[in-house]
Amino acid sequence: MTAPTVKIVRTVAELRAQVGAWKAAGERVALIPTMGALHEGHLSLVRLGQKRARRTVASVFVNPRQFAPHEDFDAYPRGEARDAELLASVGCDLMFAPDVAEMYAPGFSTTVNLTGVSEPLEGAARPLFFGGVATVVTKLLNQAQPDLAVFGEKDYQQLQVIKRVVRDLDIPVEIVGAPTARADDGLALSSRNAYLSPEERAAAVALPDAMKAAAKAVAEGGRVDEAEARAVAALTAAGFRQVDYVDVRDADDLSRLGPGPITGAKGRILVAAWLGKTRLIDNMAVG
Ligand code: AMP
Repeated sequence: MTAPTVKIVRTVAELRAQVGAWKAAGERVALIPTMGALHEGHLSLVRLGQKRARRTVASVFVNPRQFAPHEDFDAYPRGEARDAELLASVGCDLMFAPDVAEMYAPGFSTTVNLTGVSEPLEGAARPLFFGGVATVVTKLLNQAQPDLAVFGEKDYQQLQVIKRVVRDLDIPVEIVGAPTARADDGLALSSRNAYLSPEERAAAVALPDAMKAAAKAVAEGGRVDEAEARAVAALTAAGFRQVDYVDVRDADDLSRLGPGPITGAKGRILVAAWLGKTRLIDNMAVG
């Protein structure tokens, strides 16, 4: 038996031709944007797309515009052949793997910037990040014109940012959020976990543990400020060298909740912290 393969296209014209043919045949199309270095979390997005659409397209593009000059664009893990194998193994129909010149032609000058939900948390820690994400996702949605696009709750603020952009710019697509895929010990799967040494990987479990403990305390009526402070202390004790934030926020608009107990609001706890040279983020519902 020959191994399954996935068709790979590298130009917007080829992408449009294939998606156009499917839509002309009455088939729904789901887009799953990724930066490659695929893992089970990405594949769970493809599977969710397959439940909602006949055809799935995964884009694989390490987007230079969402990395600041000092960030890990050059070091970001890449492996197209393995990505293609994994996509084929779950029956993804098409991999869109453009190069940088295909996405950003000479003279490229437009950036999609937003306020509000993009400003705190990741937006504060990485000022260029959401402009780069909103721009590339807007482009991918215009290029593929899918019926729906699937994004992970792993990047919860990103999911809210994309929902906002799609609503604000009237992009005719349904945005679907997918639950976070985790390792057995609870660490959220991430391409950046590949940066962790074995010792750091063992210590990393403190992040989901501290997050879960804080979410539980707040859900049980505890003070937000105390739960956040305990989580920061637990991360520091476990060897995290810097905690960018542990925040309980409104699940929809990401405004701050607390400092006292939360009543009535739908909360989300969001965490970003550094283990050595690796920055990990995670989040979960409160209650
Ligand atoms: P990335 O390649 O890291 O930019 O992620 C591409 C998509 O996969 C984004 O929508 C992420 O939120 C999603 N994703 C990444 N890790 C996970 C995970 N562990 N579980 C679910 N979705 C994920």
